[in-house]
Amino acid sequence: MGTASDIKLINEDGLRLDGRSADELRPMKIETDVLARADGSAYIEWGGNKILVAVYGPREAFPKHTQDIDKAVVKARYNMAAFSVDERKRPGPDRRSMEISKVISEALSSAVMVNQFPRAEIDVYIEVLQADAGTRIAGLTASSVALAAAGIPMKDMVVGCTAGKVEGQVVLDLSKEEDNFGQADLPMAVLPKSGNVVLLQMDGDLSVEEFEKASSMILEATKKIHKIQRDALAGKYKAIALERSGE
Ligand code: ADP
Repeated sequence: MGTASDIKLINEDGLRLDGRSADELRPMKIETDVLARADGSAYIEWGGNKILVAVYGPREAFPKHTQDIDKAVVKARYNMAAFSVDERKRPGPDRRSMEISKVISEALSSAVMVNQFPRAEIDVYIEVLQADAGTRIAGLTASSVALAAAGIPMKDMVVGCTAGKVEGQVVLDLSKEEDNFGQADLPMAVLPKSGNVVLLQMDGDLSVEEFEKASSMILEATKKIHKIQRDALAGKYKAIALERSGE
């Protein structure tokens, strides 16, 4: 968050720098099965974000002390490529990527039927190739598609989006400039069937009214995002069916 009085993020018609209205999502595209060696994979483009997710497992958790005798452990690892941002990012884990890996692991654990796989681990590798704000939510949204593509039993998908405050206005799906110069950023993820919130973070300040407006904008947007996830998976199964029928 910062301030830059010389940058006007919302014009007099209420449109944002990239021409979007307050409750408009950036363009989004999800593909499955993009990596041959993974048990499941997905690629998401969301605005300027480009993220690959590879899922492996369930497999015996290693090292052994990480095993849970009652359930599978979901180990998500979020990583930003050195070339994913303007200035070269120093490679390797840092505090931010460890925090994001943790919140994504927890969110995914709420959706996966972990009790079916005691002592197992499910590895989710999230590789950010190009970052443009909202990468944790984009990575999480793609991860749940990759898990489903791996055939891992899940109660529900995980669908995320952000909203925030820019020049005093609540807006959906912050762009990089809005994230940098806005007043608040609220990433949130839900399980669409139950409506349970599985990730909620906030950077900056929102009043109670602004928070309610932001979260209802996000909930509305998750319906559209959930459809894009379902379409990506339906595309996969359609391709398999065509293959089997010899077409
Ligand atoms: P998120 O990507 O989930 O919004 P942050 O709010 O921490 O997470 O980051 C916002 C954006 O700032 C990122 O999407 C990325 O474009 C940029 N960013 C994050 N870390 C770095 C970094 N080390 N160097 C340059 N840009 C970064």
